[in-house]
Amino acid sequence: MLDLEPDRRDYENIYEYCSMCGKCVKNCPANAISLIYGKSHDACSDFLDKTAEKYKPRYGCGKCQINVPCESNIPMPCNSK
Ligand code: SF4
Ligand code: SF4
Repeated sequence: MLDLEPDRRDYENIYEYCSMCGKCVKNCPANAISLIYGKSHDACSDFLDKTAEKYKPRYGCGKCQINVPCESNIPMPCNSK
């Protein structure tokens, strides 16, 4: 096993490093994320309950956290690209 030290991200609110690019919204197979309303934990967990048997022993899909600009660094603002 490889011991990795997590990078510390100091922030005051959860949207501080979000560029509102919408990639996590597009990635979510359950349509559980909205740029306006945030994440619906009920919609997410309903989807995870339905797929739990298929992806056992893993519980969770995590598509909102992979292949997104904020996955491993602070994303650039959308209008700076
Ligand atoms: S993918 Fe990351 S940066 Fe883009 S809207 Fe979602 S949380 Fe914000
Ligand atoms: S874990 Fe999967 S279902 Fe839940 S919000 Fe993320 S992408 Fe959507």
